[in-house]
Amino acid sequence: MIYLDNAATTRTAPEVVEAMLPYFSDCFGNPSSIYGPGSKAKKAVNEARHTIAESLGVKPEEIYFTAGGSEADNWALKATAEGYEHKGKHIITSKIEHHAVLHTCKYLEKRGFEITYLDVDTEGKVSPKAVEDAIRPDTILISIMFANNEIGTIEPIGEIGAIAKKHGVLFHTDAVQAYGQLPISAEALGIDMLSASAHKLNGPKGIGFLYIRNGLKLRSLIHGGAQERSRRAGTENVPAIVGFGAAVERAQRLMEEKQTKESMLRDYLIERIETEVPYCRLNGHRKDRLPNNVNFSFSFIEGESLLIMLDMKGICASSGSACTSGSLDPSHVLLAIGLKHEEAHGSLRLTLSEENTKEELDVVVEAVKSIVERLREMSPLYEDFLQQGQ
Ligand SMILES: *Cc1c(COP(=O)(O)O)cnc(C)c1O
Repeated sequence: MIYLDNAATTRTAPEVVEAMLPYFSDCFGNPSSIYGPGSKAKKAVNEARHTIAESLGVKPEEIYFTAGGSEADNWALKATAEGYEHKGKHIITSKIEHHAVLHTCKYLEKRGFEITYLDVDTEGKVSPKAVEDAIRPDTILISIMFANNEIGTIEPIGEIGAIAKKHGVLFHTDAVQAYGQLPISAEALGIDMLSASAHKLNGPKGIGFLYIRNGLKLRSLIHGGAQERSRRAGTENVPAIVGFGAAVERAQRLMEEKQTKESMLRDYLIERIETEVPYCRLNGHRKDRLPNNVNFSFSFIEGESLLIMLDMKGICASSGSACTSGSLDPSHVLLAIGLKHEEAHGSLRLTLSEENTKEELDVVVEAVKSIVERLREMSPLYEDFLQQGQ
């Protein structure tokens, strides 16, 4: 198997699994209990919180564990809306956000909030000037993702953070794809809230966090016990939190090495596909791009057929985002960067890890070449195109 879908999820690192195991058995206690196994669990949760806080340059009490990135995004937007609606009911976001943000915005629209969905340019960049121009006296929140999960474009987060601060508007970023891949300093970038998820950085699934800067008036997500400073009640998912901490420690330690290796593999893959497969287009920004993201559109083919045929050769990839597969709608991200419906349908996302090798990528390039050629041979559109050319 060649796994090239690390934007959908990553393999839990063996050292992460190892770190988690004792918290299912010996240290099974409830962190709220005062006896030995409980206090051990509590200590482990605190350590993970410290590791994560340190990675962002924030305080441990500003990290709130959630059940993942979607939950953190939902919480940030809905609770800001409720907590600040006395100031205004306008929110600014972009057209290329993850559905966890976009569908939450739709929900808020039904409840009387007004949302501005900013356009992006053809490489998927949000313009800081467009953000500033969209700010109104009743704007309470700007939510722009750190890096896009489909096309890998990295957004100008520092500039947007500075604009938000200048206008006294809160700034949330969905950093689920960027966290663990890129260095992030919440303070320097002017970030008030940040969402992350462990399973995108070799941690376990079902655990994430929302960073909430001290002083923000956000309502609790879950009412009950005093866990997470009473803002998200419920007994902590201790093994997952410990695993998240171990994954963050690992990601921080390997970040430079991973960046170097993955971006080299990424550029190799992009170069080979661009030179060897005719009628293709690279989606996303050439330079400001996640180190592990490759996204192409191939004219005259269906991405779904390409995926199925790649799967038969043991290659795991994606067409758009994992959340959109199963639906026939083309990716909203690819449409937002100006692709036509048929171009968006012919897209392929390959997201690498440091475990991939050049030899694997050679196999993938040969597979893509031959499958694209075969699919085009069966395509009436391609036939028309060839006849027009003659
Ligand atoms: C994966 C992802 C999410 C959702 O995270 P889950 O932990 O799977 O809920 C949100 N935003 C982005 C950008 C993602 O890539």
